[in-house]
Amino acid sequence: MSVERQDPEWAEHQGAPPLLEVNDLNVTYRGRGFRGRSFHALKDVSIQVRRGETIGLVGESGSGKTTLGRAVLGLVPVTSGSVVFEGEEISHVGGRRRRQLSRDIQVVFQDPYSSLNPAMTIESILAEPLTVRGYSGTDARARVAELLDHVHLPADAAQRYPREFSGGQRQRVAIARALALAPKLIVCDEPVSALDLSTQARILDLFIDIQEQTGVAYLFISHDLSVVRYIAHRVAVMLSGEIIETGDGDVVTTNPTEPYTQRLLLASPVPDPVGQAKRRDLYMSLGQPQK
Ligand code: ADP
Ligand code: MG
Repeated sequence: MSVERQDPEWAEHQGAPPLLEVNDLNVTYRGRGFRGRSFHALKDVSIQVRRGETIGLVGESGSGKTTLGRAVLGLVPVTSGSVVFEGEEISHVGGRRRRQLSRDIQVVFQDPYSSLNPAMTIESILAEPLTVRGYSGTDARARVAELLDHVHLPADAAQRYPREFSGGQRQRVAIARALALAPKLIVCDEPVSALDLSTQARILDLFIDIQEQTGVAYLFISHDLSVVRYIAHRVAVMLSGEIIETGDGDVVTTNPTEPYTQRLLLASPVPDPVGQAKRRDLYMSLGQPQK
């Protein structure tokens, strides 16, 4: 998988302040139970996302990617540092403001099986965020039809249930739900990791089309460097709760400076088996990843 991203529209925004700014963020999970040890999951993490831009956040499992996404969404308590969205520090806002912010900041998770309520039709899943915000039944149905079209699902999907769809189609529903209120930022946490390779490519293309049409920005989390290479304008590499390398997507994902990123590159799947065997040999010769 490798397609040149178009010249990102965000270039014209380069003088403007970023949409999202994470500054020196620290998150410590408190230990549970008797003598539970606390865990410092994010260490002085700083990252910026501009309007209409995709930041790829890549790193091995346990490096803190999900924690960073959850901190942006207000789902984990921040120990120190700040999360600034459109100039507003949001890391400690209350429930009411947080609910308002969910119009602008949305999320797509890895697992569309557990994130969609199996008892609801696709229409009621997609209409829910709309009716909560005062859409009439008619307006909500019209918007649902628009959303289904946007994610290339047939109109009759509205009356069906999540179990009637494949993994890729369910992820389209999850994307449509995230888009319902026209957000400015979507945190995408491993949104294609549960899908087979060809479905991954189609869903990544959908993310790209949607961005080109709506100007939404993505904080796009993946453990897979080849996925991030496909979709991200800029890439940040996480290791043990720290960002160790950032830069232009093409550069970081094809010619990384850090040995850790080089290992991620060698470990990412490539469609060509001969190339893969070569990479595997090189990977083995580098030895085991250092923590
Ligand atoms: P990633 O998404 O990169 O796999 P996570 O952000 O999920 O990483 O986790 C980072 C680290 O924080 C891991 O070591 C994980 O075990 C730990 N962790 C995640 N959630 C919790 C929690 N609720 N309580 C304690 N530790 C946690
Ligand atoms: Mg994760």
